[in-house]
Amino acid sequence: MIKRAFKDIAAWMSGEVVAPNGTVKIAGVSTDTRTIQEGNLYIPLVGESFNGHNFVKSAIENGAAGAIWQKNQPNPPADIPLIYVDDTLLALQDLAKNYLANLPAKVIGITGSNGKTTTKDMVTSVLATTYKVQKTEGNYNNHIGMPLTILRLEEDTEMAVLEMGMSGRGEIELLSTIAKPEAAIITNIGESHLQDLGSREGISEAKFEITAGLRQNGTLVIHGDEPLLTEKVENSPFHVITFGTSKANNYYPVTSEQKSNGTYFSINGEEETELFIPVLGKHNINNALSAIAIAKQFEVSTPDIKKGLEMIKITGMRTELIEGKNGVTVINDAYNASPTSMRAAIELLQDLKDYKKKIVVLGDMLELGEQEELFHYEVGKGIDQDKIDFVLTFGELGKNIAAGANVHFTEKQVFAYDDKQALITKLQEVAGDGDIVLVKGSRGMKLEEVVHALM
Ligand code: ATP
Ligand code: MG
Repeated sequence: MIKRAFKDIAAWMSGEVVAPNGTVKIAGVSTDTRTIQEGNLYIPLVGESFNGHNFVKSAIENGAAGAIWQKNQPNPPADIPLIYVDDTLLALQDLAKNYLANLPAKVIGITGSNGKTTTKDMVTSVLATTYKVQKTEGNYNNHIGMPLTILRLEEDTEMAVLEMGMSGRGEIELLSTIAKPEAAIITNIGESHLQDLGSREGISEAKFEITAGLRQNGTLVIHGDEPLLTEKVENSPFHVITFGTSKANNYYPVTSEQKSNGTYFSINGEEETELFIPVLGKHNINNALSAIAIAKQFEVSTPDIKKGLEMIKITGMRTELIEGKNGVTVINDAYNASPTSMRAAIELLQDLKDYKKKIVVLGDMLELGEQEELFHYEVGKGIDQDKIDFVLTFGELGKNIAAGANVHFTEKQVFAYDDKQALITKLQEVAGDGDIVLVKGSRGMKLEEVVHALM
């Protein structure tokens, strides 16, 4: 984490040190007085419903060595080491940018509609066999979280794996220019944020902003099965590497098999090496391929790549296999959902062998814009009636999934609920020993409550 004299920090954020002097040394930064640590610099942010400046005093009481202060805010406290800045958010971002520019760490930036966090965990796992690596914790992937992640980097870290998320145009560009990645991954283009960005083309452009800060001669790893991405890299100034299912890609799987403990696969050019990832789903092979591309680019050996993939630790609630009660297996994918990721999860369930009944519990996918009902309907219509036994939906939009499923399924197989408890009761009635249940929906639907009921 950042350890610097107050005056150096002030210079990096173009701020002015006021009191008492510039020799105070800070260790780490925090924007939250509740979790502040001894010696931290407190950065008060101004939000819609709160103003961090009201908590500067309590930050100091809780151990902060000093704080920054936005000039337009009234009544700055006296006797506290302060740095005056024009804008505390910009100051946080400038500080992160300048701190990182003075570190040896190389940055791998990861964006895309789905799979950023998973890919980040995979890239970290393979690079960690060979380098000292730090990564974004949890989902700290936005204009505040990413700078905070950078400020947690240690001086001797060799590789920083940073997730870059967005909710609109310009955000990835900002993150990329702060982080200046050596290599960048675009995992895929889905439908999330269609509401704000208008079209999949718009989404693709927004993800492509990751090249804004990509270094000269940097590496750009993209999902090569996505035309909206491949068309953009013709005549690219970067070293482009593609991955995906198609044999036109630089990296593609040659064999693959889903078992209950994870996925076995091999890649082109190294068919004799059996690779294993302790996670399920074809989409996770794609995520692993991008991690392999990065690892090879940074000269990690094949045995180390194999070892790194086997040791992957995925951040929770993403395609997590759980042994529930009464012999029911649960795939917990309640973390989030979009049509692409929901189709991927359903396909995974359809591919699994060794289970008696297969049941899907699907909740609303939020923020899809005007065509949201159609997206839900199509997901439902795409479910394979030969492979899935029951479709249970939750929420208002979920009813469209049920309507789509009804095209192929019988009435006795499809149930739509508004009441989560009623859904759980039905699920406990239909799911028994040897069965498997996929639970997936947008974060706001809180479908982990269904998962907990099965545990
Ligand atoms: P967020 O935008 O919330 O940060 P994310 O991009 O970090 O999401 P993950 O958290 O890694 O994505 O994965 C979320 C879900 O997306 C997974 O549970 C899985 O269902 C799905 N998913 C993961 N990788 C892919 C992929 N490559 N293609 C399609 N779907 C994917
Ligand atoms: Mg994420």
